[in-house]
Amino acid sequence: MRIVTWNMNHCQRSESSRARAWAYLRDGLRADVALVQEAQPPPGLAQCVYQPINAANPRYNWGSAIVVFNPELTLRARPRIAVSKFPQGDEVHDSHPGTTAIAEIVDTDGKVRMTAVSLYGQWAYMPDGECFAAPTLHRIFSDLSSLLLRAARPRVFVAGDFNATTQIAADGPWSKVEIAEAQLAFSRASVLGLRDVMAHTRASRPALEQCSCAEPKPCAHVRTYRNGNRTESRPTQLDYVFASQPVLAELSSCVVVDDVAAWALSDHCPVVVDFNTSASLAPIQGDADAGV
Ligand SMILES: [Zn+2]
Repeated sequence: MRIVTWNMNHCQRSESSRARAWAYLRDGLRADVALVQEAQPPPGLAQCVYQPINAANPRYNWGSAIVVFNPELTLRARPRIAVSKFPQGDEVHDSHPGTTAIAEIVDTDGKVRMTAVSLYGQWAYMPDGECFAAPTLHRIFSDLSSLLLRAARPRVFVAGDFNATTQIAADGPWSKVEIAEAQLAFSRASVLGLRDVMAHTRASRPALEQCSCAEPKPCAHVRTYRNGNRTESRPTQLDYVFASQPVLAELSSCVVVDDVAAWALSDHCPVVVDFNTSASLAPIQGDADAGV
């Protein structure tokens, strides 16, 4: 089974570019399941869990979604509830509707492969005009607690644009805060039983040159974002893949698709994660994207 996570940069793309991006996901990257952010799934998809952040506002008429392209798989959306209530059964809090899509991926035998979470760390705007993703991101991890803090070892996969990084050069007035908030978020992920799949697979890819983080080199960072989609922008990782241990045990590979075809369609690049649980593994077709 192949899962692709990708921020599709919906509001800054043309209609034709959006259509090419969805074709690239399905036919170029051969995703069985897509976890997308800043996205608006096209109508008519049979297996799609999606809610826009704000359908009435053109700036936020998009959100996170989970889409299945493989006809042998189906989705079962997890019920979402307000944070003022206590979750029962499969319910999961939803502090920021539209920023997370959560669904079980079910095969033809009715077996739940895993519960997938498509996550977007939406900016939170402060009174003085600054904006940070950390307040939203930390609330989202709180939402996921009922999913992850279970006696039985949960099978959970969390991926998306966290809008958080420890790569910030520590010279701005808020840099230390942003770095510390990001470290806290990653620590929370670990406490909740999630493992960093990029770090787990770091030996499979070259180290990121000139990474601005303060961690010992070589670090595990990758580039998933280009500021302004400029080639020369500081290499930045805003997108992450996390998995609970039972899901990690079935991991086959994790590939960051940092190539021309992807950058032509978004200011983020996709991450392709393969699992050993299906015969539908297929090679990535590189620049197979038509019309780019
Ligand atoms: Zn680094």
